[in-house]
Amino acid sequence: MKKIHNYIDGKISEGSSKKTSPVYDPSTGEQISEVILSNKNDFETALTSSLKSFNEWSNVTPLNRSRILSNYKNLLNNNKEELASLVSMEHGKTLEDAKGSVTRGIEVVEFACGIPHLLKGEFSQNVGTNIDSWSIRQPMGVCAGITPFNFPAMVPMWMYPVSIACGNSFILKPSEKDPSCSIRLAQLFTEAGLPSGVFNVINGDKEIVDCILESNRISSVSFVGSTPVAKYIYEEAAKNGKRVQSLGGAKNHLVVMPDANLNQTVDGIMGAAYGSAGERCMAVSVAVAVGNIADELVNNIKTRTQELKVLPWTNNEADMGPLISKEHLAKVEDYIDKGVQEGASLVVDGRGYNIQGYENGYFIGPSLFDNVKENMTIYKEEIFGPVLSVVRVNSYDEAVNLINNHSFGNGTSIYTQDGDVARHFTTNVKIGMVGVNVPIPVPMAFHSFGGWKGSLFGAHAMHGMEGIHFYTKLKTVTSRWPNSIRSGAEFKMPTN
Ligand code: NAD
Repeated sequence: MKKIHNYIDGKISEGSSKKTSPVYDPSTGEQISEVILSNKNDFETALTSSLKSFNEWSNVTPLNRSRILSNYKNLLNNNKEELASLVSMEHGKTLEDAKGSVTRGIEVVEFACGIPHLLKGEFSQNVGTNIDSWSIRQPMGVCAGITPFNFPAMVPMWMYPVSIACGNSFILKPSEKDPSCSIRLAQLFTEAGLPSGVFNVINGDKEIVDCILESNRISSVSFVGSTPVAKYIYEEAAKNGKRVQSLGGAKNHLVVMPDANLNQTVDGIMGAAYGSAGERCMAVSVAVAVGNIADELVNNIKTRTQELKVLPWTNNEADMGPLISKEHLAKVEDYIDKGVQEGASLVVDGRGYNIQGYENGYFIGPSLFDNVKENMTIYKEEIFGPVLSVVRVNSYDEAVNLINNHSFGNGTSIYTQDGDVARHFTTNVKIGMVGVNVPIPVPMAFHSFGGWKGSLFGAHAMHGMEGIHFYTKLKTVTSRWPNSIRSGAEFKMPTN
């Protein structure tokens, strides 16, 4: 059985732990490899390497760091197909979708190439007579990232390229469900010229996460995953004096106004609700139909679900692949059961989906619920599968209140032809990422990604300037030459 190890000090590191976790091909349900679940000793090996490399790397000039990042970007582009295959093989998403996610990750590397410019601070001459002030942004030290299964390339790439560009060393703890891509990403960085130990990958489960949270030699923790774990990470990391950004789950609403262009809206909803089998934190899981558009909207989505091709990633025709695991498939089917029990109308039922030759795969068809109410479990909780709920409301105000009252606040979108409504929506909705006639408003690398409420704990979103600020410490210098020295001691605060 193929074994996935760690990547420490610029090479594959076998680790001392004997514990492993199986890695499956979700299309067939067959185990394809096993990944090491590292122990405390393995963590110490990674940390020692990261601490050592930090001293050297933090002194490399930003311009020279940028040159290595630029080499890395080229290597990533040259190896995009391979990286996407590694993602699809263990995650199950379609190859095109995986390629798209790798591209979005590479864009963060591209952003980080601008680090000499991005690190420029502020300068004020004569803040007092003959006194100047300026600010600089210095690296934190060893930063850590803990990432989820659903984007095994893109989510880690929201973190480490920015952190490393800022002069930090970085330890990544990827999801144990699809760990291969991270190792390849690290190998390519070494090939691009990154000194050994600046980017280490340690595989494992809660044991390693807790080592990260408890270590006083780790300066910051970036986390992306489910809300209960995000909250735990935030609280534990903060308790141990670390800087922390912790992104959690989501329940994203797409509001359909009566004046929306229905074809465009349904096109948007199909990809956003069912793409990647709904395993996206920005997936649309609730369509809010305002006024009399509801019947037509539901009928259109129903028709379009019949055209969706649910297939393994190896088939180029696939619109959507399987779920990540047997347990997750059972969980999503349970949610559908619960929706029926609680009185929602199941218009399209994806349960029990079978593909000839792939009977043991974790496939589920698209599902559509109508008449979903605010108090139902399928409305309140994140399902993380291809299940769309339609909530009918009478007015725009009702739609906004619904969204603002929800415990999650990652993304939302409105489809309308009315600029005034759109402007009111973008101003008043209590959500971190907002789209207008855009179904999945994921910010580009030079903006920042992050939600509100139960979708992000901590002050900083990821990448863009938020990322630069998260991964650097601000220092402000005030200096006076040399008049003050000549004029003798001063005992009051200088005010002019
Ligand atoms: P998860 O929370 O189960 O796991 C995420 C990471 O935490 C993994 O590396 C895992 O090993 C580790 N982990 C799991 N349980 C832990 C525990 N008890 N203690 C410490 N560490 C633990 O999430 P997942 O199932 O891998 O990913 C899906 C979730 O991620 C969804 O809720 C999705 O919405 C969320 N997500 C959010 C965003 C965002 O930007 N907000 C992006 C992608 C995914």
